[in-house]
Amino acid sequence: MPFRPRYTGLIDKYRDRLPVHDDTRIISLGEGNTPLIRLNNIPREIGKEVDIYVKYEGLNPTGSFKDRGMTMAVTKAVEEGSRAVICASTGNTSAAAAAYAARAGITAFVLIPEGKIAMGKLAQAMMHGSVVLQIRGNFDAGMRLVKEVAAEAPVTIVNSINPYRLQGQKTAAFEIIEELGRAPDYHCLPVGNAGNITAHWIGYCEYSAASGDHVTEACSFCKGHCTYAGGAIVGNRPKMVGYQAAGSAPFMRGHMVDDPDTVATAIRIGHPQSWDQAWKVREESGGWFDECSDEEILAAQKLLARKEGVFCEPASAASLAGALRDIKSGKIPEGSSVVCTLTGNGLKDPDTAIAQSQGGVVTIDAALEPVKAAILGNMK
Ligand SMILES: *Cc1c(COP(=O)(O)O)cnc(C)c1O
Repeated sequence: MPFRPRYTGLIDKYRDRLPVHDDTRIISLGEGNTPLIRLNNIPREIGKEVDIYVKYEGLNPTGSFKDRGMTMAVTKAVEEGSRAVICASTGNTSAAAAAYAARAGITAFVLIPEGKIAMGKLAQAMMHGSVVLQIRGNFDAGMRLVKEVAAEAPVTIVNSINPYRLQGQKTAAFEIIEELGRAPDYHCLPVGNAGNITAHWIGYCEYSAASGDHVTEACSFCKGHCTYAGGAIVGNRPKMVGYQAAGSAPFMRGHMVDDPDTVATAIRIGHPQSWDQAWKVREESGGWFDECSDEEILAAQKLLARKEGVFCEPASAASLAGALRDIKSGKIPEGSSVVCTLTGNGLKDPDTAIAQSQGGVVTIDAALEPVKAAILGNMK
């Protein structure tokens, strides 16, 4: 077998497209390089000729795409001499910050909304030794506090307002282009703070030959940290489509929402931090925003798990729920290629999964006959 060097994370891989130096000490857990899985059974079931791929970001080291941004944010924080990082989080940012801070040997402070984060994420933040501050308030309140305290204490904010986060996250678009040989026609994502949809657009623009005038504009998102050098390889860019949870959909309402609510806790955000950027992404890419009910989100999560063997968390399923609806209606036409980002791993939120899988467990006596009966009565 030909020798292939060990994969050492996305900063090493895309070093020439990221704001790092040759002697930068890289804080990595081998993030990125996640599978792009082509759906087989769901497209057949809905009877549409569409190529749907899911980018399974739940397979990052801490189980969400946040690792792509966190490897950059913590690497730069350490390079700049910071001894502590801080974030507000609906769960996954805190898990990633905790793990990368542990790796770097610095302290992570995480502010989470009391009672509104999935158990797996809380377990991660605690296990990696971060200081968990559970606030009586939602993510938006936590974000406000983080900004205030960072102005007065020596801590680096690693929320997506940290420009290095988006730089790391843009690499997901690079990976997709490298696997497909082109950009997809549509790229669908769940939207909370809208950092990730913005980061993907930056990535697609940097890889696009036809985007000469747009590159500078896209790169204004990253506040000058982009190292785009003009090495264009593909001619197309996707329409970017952002789906929100209906109870937490400021982009649909056209204004901030004060009391967001949804089962998809990772996108329970009423005051998106990348508000202006995301509107620009929609406009430049020709895409759109839409909303999905909690029922649609959970149905898509279950469908994906049962028909394709892929387990994502509820927020992640918003991308597929919305895409399937738009494919069925023809808004996304037949013949298209579609990538849906599955932002986080289903194992993060076992409570929600178990609650909607009632009847999935049968209790029987430990004897041959009842086992046999259960098998014969339950074949697909
Ligand atoms: C953070 C997160 C999102 C939202 O991403 P934004 O960049 O805030 O829009 C969606 N899904 C999961 C699982 C997340 O952790």
